[in-house]
Amino acid sequence: MAAPGENLRINADRLWDSIMEMAKIGPGVAGGNNRQTLTDEDSEGRALFKEWCEEAGLEMGLDQMGNMFARREGTDPDALPVYVGSHLDTQPTGGKYDGVLGVLGGLELIRTLNDLGIKTRHPIVITNWTNEEGTRFAPAMLASGVFAGVHDLEWAYDRTDAKGKRFGDELERIGWKGNEPVGQRKMKAMFELHIEQGPILEDEGIDIGVVTHGQGLKWLQVTLTGKESHTGSTPMPKRRNAGLGMARVTELVHEVAMDYQPHAVGAIGHVEVYPNSRNIIPGRTVFTIDIRSPDKKVLDTMDARIREGISTIAEAMDISYEVEQVGHFDPVTFDEGCVKTIREAAERLGYSHRDIVSGAGHDACWINRVAPTAMVMCPCVDGLSHNEAEEISKEWAAAGANVLFHAVVETAEIVE
Ligand SMILES: [Zn+2]
Repeated sequence: MAAPGENLRINADRLWDSIMEMAKIGPGVAGGNNRQTLTDEDSEGRALFKEWCEEAGLEMGLDQMGNMFARREGTDPDALPVYVGSHLDTQPTGGKYDGVLGVLGGLELIRTLNDLGIKTRHPIVITNWTNEEGTRFAPAMLASGVFAGVHDLEWAYDRTDAKGKRFGDELERIGWKGNEPVGQRKMKAMFELHIEQGPILEDEGIDIGVVTHGQGLKWLQVTLTGKESHTGSTPMPKRRNAGLGMARVTELVHEVAMDYQPHAVGAIGHVEVYPNSRNIIPGRTVFTIDIRSPDKKVLDTMDARIREGISTIAEAMDISYEVEQVGHFDPVTFDEGCVKTIREAAERLGYSHRDIVSGAGHDACWINRVAPTAMVMCPCVDGLSHNEAEEISKEWAAAGANVLFHAVVETAEIVE
């Protein structure tokens, strides 16, 4: 199948206007948006998206998690659809582009295909995933997680917000609970366009991030137990100082992360020192280690090295230790074929590009478990996101949407 011609481009002005139109719904207090999931504003945003989809001749599907699926038919009724998706919900003090660019970038590519009268063999489906942000109802990426079989539907319905309202009830209240069972759709592939939410692309002056991986993480909680004793009268050789043990583990975590550059990171964030008194040698410390890597083997090796190091440190200091894993998310390796399609699209369109690892979670990370998936990223100013001041340029949005467009139509196969 021939790749689409390099002159094939989306309408950048129309995409930008649609983003600005959507941003009028649920305005924030500082120029951004507050369109949290399952609020009246979310419902209004969904209605506008549906109206636009229907104007573009798409048929809207709705599942029991409120995920929206706008379908453009292909010429082959049996061909698996190519999906494009992201989210229209925002943080309480969110930006205009996080998620929205991915959904409206998908709509724009459909509008462009319509303008040009281009048919594809595979159907194309634009998806708005419910509750990506997870601020009102934790966890994040809730509905794509149910779709991918990570979470149970009833468990998702039972999530409550700060006021005790249930997810399932609120979904029903705003009128976007569909009948379609969640997760039964089969996909040829899924592509997500998203702003980077980090500083790398802008710093390096690069148009397109080709996302190869998503960071995996482990949270370890460590308890070191020594002996509380007087800071003045305890001879140095007799001390069993849990605070000193924690300091040595802090160094260890940093060193281990530095050994796996450029992608691995590690730090101790939360610390508790007992009894936390000026003239008592700490008898006990409790602290959490956060380590991340896009490579599962590296993450596991870091974990093993840190545990071994803690054991050595504790033994040498005559203190006891416990290590408990309290959080975990496997690294994501996006589909090689989809990643290649995105990289080649960027190349063909003449955009500068680099491979990049997503430090944040996205719906694509869950969908990658059930379908070949990849992501396109475009820069954002100062790497700022989850902030009303989140900003991108029209050119960056257009570049991202053009790469998305080419990756999708190449996968969906233009019918000559
Ligand atoms: Zn997002």
